[in-house]
Amino acid sequence: MVVPRDSAVGEQSPDGGKKAAKGAKGVVAVKGESHTALVRRARRINRELAEIYPYAHPELDFENPFQLVVATVLSAQTTDLRVNQTTPALFAKYPTPEDLAGADPEQVEEILRPTGFFRAKTKSVIGLSKALVEEFGGEVPGRLEDLVKLPGVGRKTAFVVLGNAFGRPGITVDTHFQRLVRRWKWTEATEPDKIEAAVGALFPKSDWTMLSHHVIFHGRRICHARKPACGACPIAPLCPAYGEGETDPEKAKKLLKYEKGGYPGQRLNPPQAYLDAGGKPAPPLGSA
Ligand code: SF4
Repeated sequence: MVVPRDSAVGEQSPDGGKKAAKGAKGVVAVKGESHTALVRRARRINRELAEIYPYAHPELDFENPFQLVVATVLSAQTTDLRVNQTTPALFAKYPTPEDLAGADPEQVEEILRPTGFFRAKTKSVIGLSKALVEEFGGEVPGRLEDLVKLPGVGRKTAFVVLGNAFGRPGITVDTHFQRLVRRWKWTEATEPDKIEAAVGALFPKSDWTMLSHHVIFHGRRICHARKPACGACPIAPLCPAYGEGETDPEKAKKLLKYEKGGYPGQRLNPPQAYLDAGGKPAPPLGSA
């Protein structure tokens, strides 16, 4: 893990920390950063995040690709926890694409109501189930070009499914990912496709799926949209946006959002690999 920013930097930039500090080892000086330096810094951030979130994984509960694609569609505009609380009833009643394709929309709407936008979501999941049955023999296809043809499935959902249900590398450009990679000046792009391409070029493909989890975990827990907890952020020395949020360590600590229920993230049914590895999330920052 990188050393705390204060001890690495020794001083703050004159603008109160709004720009990257320079000079000290491990501290970024982004202005005019070469591509090679950017690649190094980006990979170092990912390595540090891997240490902070060794248990990072998709936060939606699923047992097969069908469940994952449906859960991902349902996760729009709501929390993964809410989806995880809702999908058990859905999959108990409609375990296969055939079942959901033939479902009565009103009954599905009742189940999906807590996830918000439940009418549109009902339409999407029944529509995508029909497409799976009619065009793919009732199986979720393992190719990007097929997945994005399914109703309600865009590139983001497709990459979640490819990366996590098929083991194919994918970058998930969600709202956290977009915000953080721009804060880190990995790219200036604003469109998800361009962000995906720019960030993909900084990492080997084999890193893409875990990179996505690390970045999203960091966005949910520390580097929040409105008030990032900069003063408690372990990668502050590598971050050109240090100072965008709370820099006072004690106040920043209060902003951290961490696992409370004993399981990491928002899963109610953690993956077997995680349980096999001891089943414990990393301790909250600052607790050591
Ligand atoms: S919390 Fe602050 S220092 Fe940490 S990554 Fe986000 S903007 Fe950078």
